Amino acid sequence: MDSGAELGRAGELVAGARRLVAMTGAGISTDSGIPDFRGPNGLWTRDPAAERMSNFRDYVSSREVRELTWQARIEHPGWAAVPNAAHHALAELERRGILRAIVTQNIDRLQQKAGSDPDLVLELHGNMFESVCLDCADRRDMREALARVRAGETDPPCADCGGILKSATVSFGQSLDRALLDRAASAVRECDVLVVAGSSLTVQPAAGLVGLAANAGARVLVCNAAPTPYDDAAEVVLRGPLGETLPALL
Ligand code: NAD
Ligand code: ZN
Repeated sequence: MDSGAELGRAGELVAGARRLVAMTGAGISTDSGIPDFRGPNGLWTRDPAAERMSNFRDYVSSREVRELTWQARIEHPGWAAVPNAAHHALAELERRGILRAIVTQNIDRLQQKAGSDPDLVLELHGNMFESVCLDCADRRDMREALARVRAGETDPPCADCGGILKSATVSFGQSLDRALLDRAASAVRECDVLVVAGSSLTVQPAAGLVGLAANAGARVLVCNAAPTPYDDAAEVVLRGPLGETLPALL
């Protein structure tokens, strides 16, 4: 656990912030029952083959991967998950008027469910609650496609054009929404304090935003159980569980 001195320094950092940006990853949602990828109980740590389901090329080229992915979507814990103390702590920072944006790599919408203004949550990797056609770009409520899977279609095609359907998430090999990434870059360049919560900071370009913030003069606080490549850029690093460390910052 982190020493009281470190928690105190982190709390002072946050208390002194005027334009705070938070950057969140899968680790903020593990306490809500959604496993991360690379933590000790991470999906890929336990089953390295699961990585194929997050790879765009494998998804497009392999019907087998798509069928497995549809089953995983049905079983995704994100459907029933509720926000935890860490999400609520970030929502509280917004109520205090110092939070400018939450840049998230998460697809679970738990931050919005905790009461954060959806306009302030920049979902770099999209969300799991919509489907999108890879050919005609038709977007729909994901529950429509999942109902078809439950009814027996193992790889439901687009109802409009027959194209491949996928969740509206950004897989490895897909590019991020340029405008959204630009907004995130502006937010971190203009912030005075950047709080990283629950990310291994190994996925680009999201991780690079931390370097951008530090180079622009922001003070960086990293809250993550495992070391990250950006710990050296941080003024304070907290290793404790986010459900305790983030509320303690308030
Ligand atoms: P990651 O799995 O690479 O890293 C998560 C980090 O969080 C790990 O370093 C782990 O040690 C730490 N962690 C886990 N639980 C913690 C806790 N309770 N307290 C403190 N630290 C904790 O996740 P990432 O950096 O977000 O990148 C992985 C990719 O996975 C992203 O692209 C994201 O889109 C996707 N993803 C999202 C979800 C989700 O939406 N909840 C879940 C899994 C993966
Ligand atoms: Zn289509």
